[in-house]
Amino acid sequence: MMGWMDTHCHLCLLKPEQGSVSDVVSRLASAGVHRILDVATGKDNWQCVADNAANFDVVYAGIGIHPTSEMQETEADWQLLESLVTLPKVLAVGECGLDFYHAPESECAHQYARFERQIHLAQQVNKPLIIHTRNSSQQTLDVLKSVGAGKVTGIMHCFVEDKATAQQALDIGFYLSFSGISTFKNATQVQEVMQWAPLDRLLIETDSPYLAPVPYRGKLNEPAYVAKVGEQMAKLKAISVESLAEQLEYNAQRLFRF
Ligand SMILES: [Zn+2]
Ligand SMILES: [Zn+2]
Repeated sequence: MMGWMDTHCHLCLLKPEQGSVSDVVSRLASAGVHRILDVATGKDNWQCVADNAANFDVVYAGIGIHPTSEMQETEADWQLLESLVTLPKVLAVGECGLDFYHAPESECAHQYARFERQIHLAQQVNKPLIIHTRNSSQQTLDVLKSVGAGKVTGIMHCFVEDKATAQQALDIGFYLSFSGISTFKNATQVQEVMQWAPLDRLLIETDSPYLAPVPYRGKLNEPAYVAKVGEQMAKLKAISVESLAEQLEYNAQRLFRF
């Protein structure tokens, strides 16, 4: 069978009890996972993420600055980021976006400049964006439309928004990536959007070590578990896991231009 790709995980944030990155990677093949995208959140893990991609064939990277990162980026940091995102195994710029969950929008003004600069960077290096949005979906889409319109594409990662928001993201050429939340019994809105969204614009992820899918809910998550998200998506789409895996692989190839 064609393997799964975990399009969003954080190998640099794994907990010691999950073993080394090498241990985690060694558990992928038997779970049917053939490629993972390790995502950086700020300068403190840029090098870690770049090293993981260099050390393991199946590991690729996304490098950027998370909206809630406490990093105080300098011009030298931006230059370093610009050079890191040109590395061949860096598939995307991010994760970046807006997040008004921990503080009201009025206290998050700095997030806009940080986000806009990463949109320009993605355009410049011609790579997709990995978008994080929390309590900010309309503002995030507005920025993407005004700054990136037609010039940049990417992934709305860990998608949990409603259909209207999904439609806006699809309209500007973005892909929707679903996490283990889609396996939770009470996540009916997420499941409805998953069922409704066009197959050729879907991706799956773990966002590990967070958000472990059923039957691992509440435990630490790891990229091997992305297969559970794939099984849930196949069920909701009423297609075989084989054909879904093939479709998602095609989607990933189109987006990341393998
Ligand atoms: Zn995120
Ligand atoms: Zn993340």
